[in-house]
Amino acid sequence: MTNPKHIVCPHCGAINRVPGDRSAVPAQCGTCKSKLFAGEPLPVDSASFDRHTAKNDIPVLVDVWAPWCGPCRSMAPQFQRAAQMLEPDVRLLKLNSDEQPEISARYGIRSIPTMLLFKNGKLTAQTSGAMEATRIANWARSNL
Ligand SMILES: [Zn+2]
Repeated sequence: MTNPKHIVCPHCGAINRVPGDRSAVPAQCGTCKSKLFAGEPLPVDSASFDRHTAKNDIPVLVDVWAPWCGPCRSMAPQFQRAAQMLEPDVRLLKLNSDEQPEISARYGIRSIPTMLLFKNGKLTAQTSGAMEATRIANWARSNL
């Protein structure tokens, strides 16, 4: 048995307590009844970015991208596949750097796509450049 973990609902932002193992996959939010893990990255604004990075007990992996960025667009389906590999151990977020420039500025992001990995609210790893799904998952796991 592993300890229950606090998981922020991707839909309503409520903080749920779920078992800390694979049985978290079918877990539903106690507030809005949505699935806590849908096998896909969650688009966030700066407020939900802060909430997810600060309140989740699981690590949070963020893809910082922009619509005009070709490598970002080609990485998008790979990041989606990585979500299926990493959930429910890791929460995956997508942050549009054009719409949320203050987050990019906070972490000194100069090129995109950039991935940020957070643990307990702290940035623990950062990398730039498009990757395919297996490399994304391996990079995240090697930095957990
Ligand atoms: Zn919810």
